[in-house]
Amino acid sequence: MTPPTSEPTRSAPVHAPSQHFPVTPGGDLLVGGIPLTRLAERVGSTPFYAYSRELLRQRVTELRAALPAAVELHYAMKANPMPAVVGFMAGLVNGIDVASAGELKVALDAGADPKDISFAGPGKRDAELRQALAAGVLVNVESLRELRVLAELQQALGLSARVALRVNPDFELKGSGMKMGGGPKQFGIDVDQVGAAMDLVRAGGLGFEGFHLFAGSQNLRAESICEAQRKSYELALRLAEGAPTPVKFLNLGGGFGIPYFPGEQRLDLAPIGANLDDICARAKTQLPLAAIVIELGRYFVGEAGLYVTRIVDRKVSCGQVFLVCDGGLNHHLSASGNFGQVIRKNYPATLVTRSGSSAEGGAREVASVVGPLCTPLDLLADRMNLPVAEVGDLAVIFQSGAYGASASPQAFLGHPVVTEVLV
Ligand SMILES: *Cc1c(COP(=O)(O)O)cnc(C)c1O
Repeated sequence: MTPPTSEPTRSAPVHAPSQHFPVTPGGDLLVGGIPLTRLAERVGSTPFYAYSRELLRQRVTELRAALPAAVELHYAMKANPMPAVVGFMAGLVNGIDVASAGELKVALDAGADPKDISFAGPGKRDAELRQALAAGVLVNVESLRELRVLAELQQALGLSARVALRVNPDFELKGSGMKMGGGPKQFGIDVDQVGAAMDLVRAGGLGFEGFHLFAGSQNLRAESICEAQRKSYELALRLAEGAPTPVKFLNLGGGFGIPYFPGEQRLDLAPIGANLDDICARAKTQLPLAAIVIELGRYFVGEAGLYVTRIVDRKVSCGQVFLVCDGGLNHHLSASGNFGQVIRKNYPATLVTRSGSSAEGGAREVASVVGPLCTPLDLLADRMNLPVAEVGDLAVIFQSGAYGASASPQAFLGHPVVTEVLV
């Protein structure tokens, strides 16, 4: 079993993803205590994703220790919707955030309590709102239209809707990989339209629960996250004055990032914990009924997963070594650099070889790891220093637990779909 991840501090290792997956003296990796080569035999075919229960649990434990006990943790399942992962996470966190009726089904099947499921996402179809209403989940409303439709559906189904207003914040999350608030956005309701939304909530007799603010994703700067949380709280406090009923639910978003590239530091949770302590203390008197919620996807699952693909050809072209694998961007678009990266950088990667070159002190060379697709975009590792590998050896991409299989164009070029295992 791996030792618990060390406390995240400013002096934490800059970039050591293999600390999550210990290396055996023979150069194999341990996933949940199982050597990867043996796990590959167990899975029966490559490529596959492997996610570690132990690492998922560690993340949740670490967050609970760093954040105030009153803060509720929600898992945004779009980061990894594998049903077994969602089921496992549902048992560890306080709620599941879904972004489609398809995800809603997975969350309900996984045993998540409908009272703890929230449903965000722009462009919810009438049929999806109807399903959400019937399921009894909280709808994070993204537009005035959704409020009108929910009011009609309440009448038609004789059920009462639970709604929170997703507000497009009037500020940005600084230093975020993907901004999802501030300025013109397809997400949420603009601050100056919240009054009209409240009118629709009242007129429609909808069950108002609170607010949802989400400013962005993949942020490694604690100060930026703290600032966004403070501003979100202030905004919610201001908007609560116009609410029909007291705020019971206040989702301050998430955006906690994980380090992918050399030089990136782990997010420091200590200041975020202190900031939330402060917010929770204020909320106790200012919004006494409100549950303070943080919603995270990538941070829970990203580091707990590996993508494993087998080398099917070894070529040298113009002096450069290419290791051609049985999977690539068709399964792992984000590692290929084509899912939101501006400048392509290598995800941390290694090779597990039978020759022993992956053991400490083994022979290394510069090689590129590519997939089988007929496009130069199908690149998993560009000229990395790696153990010397042969056909049949395994290529491993770390930090692959989030935005992997479900965020990749698996039908592209007609190769087999990827297997996923929770270990
Ligand atoms: C995508 C998304 C998340 C999850 O983002 P991560 O960066 O994976 O933590 C959370 N909330 C909303 C509303 C989202 O759209």
